[in-house]
Amino acid sequence: MTTQAARLSKSRFVTGCQCHKLLWWTVHEPDAVELQPDKVLQDLFDQGRQVGEVARTRYPGGVLIDLPHDARAERVAATRKALDEGAPAVFEATFIADNTYVAIDVLEKQGDGYRLTEVKSSTSQKDEHVPDVAVQARVAAACGVKITAADVLHLNKEFRHPDSGDLFARTDVTGPVAAFLPQVPDEIARQREMLAGPLPDVPIGAQCFEPRECPFIGRCWPHGPEHIGNLAGVGPKKTVAYLQRGITSISDLPRTEKLNFTQKRQLKAMAQGRIVVEPTLAGELERFGGRLGFLDFETIIRAIPVWPGMAPWQQAAAQFSYHERQPDGSYTHAAFLAEGPQDARPPLAAAMVRATANASRVVMYTSFEKTRIRELQRAVPELATELAALEAKLIDLHPVVKNCVYHPDFLGSFSLKDILTPLVPELTYSDLVIVDGRVASVEIARLLFVADKIPRHERDRVRQDLLNYCERDTWAMVKLVERLRELGGKSGWANPGAMPRG
Ligand code: SF4
Repeated sequence: MTTQAARLSKSRFVTGCQCHKLLWWTVHEPDAVELQPDKVLQDLFDQGRQVGEVARTRYPGGVLIDLPHDARAERVAATRKALDEGAPAVFEATFIADNTYVAIDVLEKQGDGYRLTEVKSSTSQKDEHVPDVAVQARVAAACGVKITAADVLHLNKEFRHPDSGDLFARTDVTGPVAAFLPQVPDEIARQREMLAGPLPDVPIGAQCFEPRECPFIGRCWPHGPEHIGNLAGVGPKKTVAYLQRGITSISDLPRTEKLNFTQKRQLKAMAQGRIVVEPTLAGELERFGGRLGFLDFETIIRAIPVWPGMAPWQQAAAQFSYHERQPDGSYTHAAFLAEGPQDARPPLAAAMVRATANASRVVMYTSFEKTRIRELQRAVPELATELAALEAKLIDLHPVVKNCVYHPDFLGSFSLKDILTPLVPELTYSDLVIVDGRVASVEIARLLFVADKIPRHERDRVRQDLLNYCERDTWAMVKLVERLRELGGKSGWANPGAMPRG
């Protein structure tokens, strides 16, 4: 191992604080497919960069070290020059010590020393920010820069677009950083030593999900439908607790284990290798009668809010798809997709109120749509009455599936995508370009806010991809209700299609 390979940076140090094995792969396999940012992660990076740029406008006269990150010596020299010349603030101030490279977001002159500020796009200061700031403070101090205060400048959850309050809030972390600082040199040494050796043996645990989900879970975590992580309702924390008890497989669960009804149904379905349907299903479906509508939203979610009254990272509906069953058994479809950067909520709400006016009930899957409609009541007060009437028609299909049906191929999940293939195998998303709501969200934001940077033909194609995706989500609900009716013994609706296996 070369010294070059064992060099650290601020981000590597933080990665190593989460898990040494994760750091080893990050350093030694930088081209690993797991480390290549997808559209969603790239968008997060881009939004973080945008937040950082806006934060700099708070420091008049600040000097940006605007050099490539691999021009390390030049960056260090430019930082020294800016400090010597008395710049009130230096952005991306760069230092190297202990074989560790850091670029400080804002280094601000304060009395006889400097205040170190880390800019984050989160809406609060988090524990994981402390080692992040501490390694910067340690390296700067080792380079002779006296750090007298440290803080995290994060987004302010009370801010409302366009100008209600301050977009940023500041949390002082001088105390926690000072408390962590003595650990930094030892941790740097441990990480460098580890990086000079073979892949370390690190048992899986809570660190695989905290502070952020590790991209290498697919390498470290056991696979298979029996894995305890596939028990319904078991998230990362409970999975780790089971593993610590030596329970790695659902079949390892002791007979005395306290399980809820959904989990018991899952165990029964797995043991029998078939779908389990509760006799209560038919009764649950009685509410899904009359002129039934099916509604699905796609949203945008931006760090720096874009439409009136919105807070940082608040979701806002920007697209909907709506199917409605007509008295003759056919289905009509209506859709809306925002266009241009202006507030899409008023035209979206108006189109949705029009489309759903004749429905007796409107089906959603989880309460996501209900939350969005409540937000729309505040954002579009002139349609608040109509939107409240629509809210009163909403009916959630998710608890019906969760309470009444389990197929072994659900693998413990009741998300629409996860239950769809086992229950409606003939309906897939495989012919679509966009198959994920998070990607849809990023693509909508791209279309709305940077459309001028996208060629016309690509814009048209992405719009169509989005329309296709959202339409498939509501059609999936249509087919799901049909299938549940069959399973519940009420085949009153046409087109039964293939039976689920099991
Ligand atoms: S999955 Fe867990 S053990 Fe494996 S590298 Fe990631 S954090 Fe470390």
